[in-house]
Amino acid sequence: NRRVVLAERPKGAPDDKTLRLEESAMPKAGKGEMLLRTVYLSLDPYMRGRMNDTKSYATPVEIGGVMTGQVVAEVVTSDVDGFAVGDMVLHGSGWQDYAVSDGKEVINLGANPDNPSWYLGILGMPGYTAHAGLLNIGEPKKGETVVVAAASGPVGATVGQIAKIKGCRVVGVAGGAEKCAHVVDTLGFDACIDHRADDFAAQLKAACPDGIDVYFENVGGKVLYAVLPLLNAFARMPVCGVVSWYNLPGLPDGPDMGPAIMGTILRMKVKVQGFIIFDSFGPEHHKAFIADMKSWLADGQVTYKEQVVDGLEAAPAALNDLLVGKSFGKMVVKVG
Ligand code: NDP
Repeated sequence: NRRVVLAERPKGAPDDKTLRLEESAMPKAGKGEMLLRTVYLSLDPYMRGRMNDTKSYATPVEIGGVMTGQVVAEVVTSDVDGFAVGDMVLHGSGWQDYAVSDGKEVINLGANPDNPSWYLGILGMPGYTAHAGLLNIGEPKKGETVVVAAASGPVGATVGQIAKIKGCRVVGVAGGAEKCAHVVDTLGFDACIDHRADDFAAQLKAACPDGIDVYFENVGGKVLYAVLPLLNAFARMPVCGVVSWYNLPGLPDGPDMGPAIMGTILRMKVKVQGFIIFDSFGPEHHKAFIADMKSWLADGQVTYKEQVVDGLEAAPAALNDLLVGKSFGKMVVKVG
């Protein structure tokens, strides 16, 4: 049984000393338990936060502990009611080949689910994040302008496609020409701006002639600073993530942006609300998400892109890529 553990807490970007692949004894399922074999492991930006020993909504991974992560796994043996050998399940068993579970907090996807890895993305946590955060906090209205960065990733791509369904003008922000072309041509956004362009702020302004009504915050940094002067009165800002800052070892150099951020929120009466998908919304929101998303996928109103990386041993480098924009689409690791 191979597993990836946190070897040391990174200062700044994780490096090859941060995570360690090791062999451990094969776990044994006892009475009332089942043995799960990981098939797909999800890689997500929040994993960088779990490496830090700081106050957060979740406890950090301990040194020597298995890295946190959601997986799609196959039931190998089962003494748990409702789970049969061969069923595919969704579970938080982390970065390892095998795990034992008593069935608590495990979702059974059945014996042969279509596209099982999608339950880590468009039909899972990132898709739900986009749906619940945009519709309940962003409250987009027909004709309004919605801006979202990391626009080719699982959250941003879904936010933008839902905003199009709701009749908005949608402007994405992404890193590089290939991602921007995908965002406009395949996902159907009205425009997509490359945040690496020297005149990024000017391009964003030109793409938002009526200002910005909803800024779905995924990245922070210079995208946030370019958005601030474009926000309309009573704009809404669901704060979902600030991935451009996750690798910072401390506060960044440069001018104090506090006055610009807080001054804009005050003058433009911006609603800013952070949320964590695990506990910010009720079961009725999840039900609405599943119903909407299944129908939008079926009729082609939403499309989904994955990047599948092969092998547990490739996961540490793949997570580093994800954090700096070298991934393209939802990153999953094919473990077994
Ligand atoms: P992605 O797969 O889209 O990966 C992150 C992307 O962020 C990169 O691909 C890159 O895209 C972009 N990025 C990285 N650095 C920068 C930078 N300096 N400036 C601009 N963009 C940058 O991630 P997800 O879709 O899974 O997640 C998106 C955000 O949502 C993250 O902040 C994540 O933490 C957050 N999140 C929050 C949840 C919650 O409950 N609040 C739940 C799930 C996700 P590009 O190359 O296009 O720049």
